[in-house]
Amino acid sequence: ESFADLKLIPELLETIQALKFTKPTPIQAEAIPHALAGKDIIGLAVTGSGKTAAFAIPILQALWNDQMPYYCLVISPTRELAYQIKETFDALGSAMGLRTCCIVGGMSPMDQALDLLRKPHIIVATPGRIIDHLEKTKGFNLRNLRYLVMDEADRLLDQEFDRELDKILRVIPRERNTYLFSATMTNKIEKLQRASLQNPVRIAV
Ligand code: AMP
Repeated sequence: ESFADLKLIPELLETIQALKFTKPTPIQAEAIPHALAGKDIIGLAVTGSGKTAAFAIPILQALWNDQMPYYCLVISPTRELAYQIKETFDALGSAMGLRTCCIVGGMSPMDQALDLLRKPHIIVATPGRIIDHLEKTKGFNLRNLRYLVMDEADRLLDQEFDRELDKILRVIPRERNTYLFSATMTNKIEKLQRASLQNPVRIAV
């Protein structure tokens, strides 16, 4: 199977070629068609599997048809992972005029508020910081969000971000797509899945 078989727009296919991704990894080959068909996804996959592009590619393809600010929120358990996810979106979206931002601890909240008010399409954030901005940054809300991604969800729950995730789920639209990625399936992940995904396709690689 090749990326050309996945019915991607040329703007993405060309970028994927330029990045020298010659063929989809197993998680990409399985997840991308379901994601493009509008399904929610729970992906059991570890770092190194290509999971980031597995969710970034379909989200960018949807965004291309419907360019809106605050289109997608990706929640990451750590700053380092958040920066890596942002880099993947920037690389894949380089032909699309994509705006992304990273909202994590250790940076000036003022600068971050300005970043958010520039209306990025993709926000990659750690849970506490994005809640601070949802509560305090005037003019910023996620009422039009279309995609929520919870990456490394097992680590999110290990760090007891349950309450923060609940808070985020309460201020985003019900009508959206949600992708949950985790290295392991646990009772807590099942519970989070029930609270946040609708009829998800489960993919394990
Ligand atoms: P991830 O599992 O998302 O952290 O990705 C691991 C690494 O694989 C990253 O450096 C990606 O740039 C790279 N990668 C992702 N998809 C592909 C692909 N289809 N072909 C080659 N490399 C890839």
